[in-house]
Amino acid sequence: MEALVLMYHQIVPDGAHENWVPAPLADPRYGVTRLEFARQMAHLRQEGYRILALDDLLAPGRLSSDSSSAASSGVYSGDTSDATLDERPALVVTFDDGYETDLTQALPILSHLGIPATFFVATGHIGSPGMLTETMAAELAARPLFRIGGHGESHRFLSDMPEAECRRELARSFSRVREISGQKSAAMSAPGGRTSHRVADLARQAGFSALATSRPGLYRERADPFSIPRLPVLRSHSLRDFVALLDPRSLVHRKERWMRQAKQAARSVLSTLSSAKGG
Ligand SMILES: [Zn+2]
Repeated sequence: MEALVLMYHQIVPDGAHENWVPAPLADPRYGVTRLEFARQMAHLRQEGYRILALDDLLAPGRLSSDSSSAASSGVYSGDTSDATLDERPALVVTFDDGYETDLTQALPILSHLGIPATFFVATGHIGSPGMLTETMAAELAARPLFRIGGHGESHRFLSDMPEAECRRELARSFSRVREISGQKSAAMSAPGGRTSHRVADLARQAGFSALATSRPGLYRERADPFSIPRLPVLRSHSLRDFVALLDPRSLVHRKERWMRQAKQAARSVLSTLSSAKGG
């Protein structure tokens, strides 16, 4: 069984102007409008997709079992198609950065439809204008459907940092997330999607349970939880684009797979060259 992990950022409220950004961290290209987000989530429910919590990807056998986490926790009561015959990937919904729109715009829609989600919060930005406050983040984490996770402390790219600094960022971010949420465990997503084997190792050492990247692709059962691919949902996506994103056979995925393979080939040539030089 496979899963697609969707990556959202801010949700643009009704009536906000086109390039509305809630905070200095935000990029208008990632701001999906509330209306579009509501349509996308409703589409997932109408089409009977299995929607899992991120934690379910990490629990052995959970991805291949045929009930969604929300159904097993008794929250979701909607209609689904025959999930046992469902060949489509399961879906996971995530949000990056920690905008206040996680709570004000996304939460009502997700709660209404019983869709679980993880909100990755850049802990150093908590309480900044447009971002979640500590109380808001705690409120999200207190709901059974939702979890919060780390997204670095400063939101600087972890892959660019000296090791000691990266360790500090991860340790601070992990302890803050646990302190605010009261969660025993927490996953994280990499700021800017920038990650590396070293970042993955340090994230594991800091105590995180998983690392979500911005590398597009499908997550396969028992794959590395410290390299979870995700697909960004952008403001420019129409509902049709969104539907194509959910279909691993679609052109979007074929193009991305091809790009990835080309990059991997280039990387393996480079590593062969560098190991030939001894370093
Ligand atoms: Zn980010």
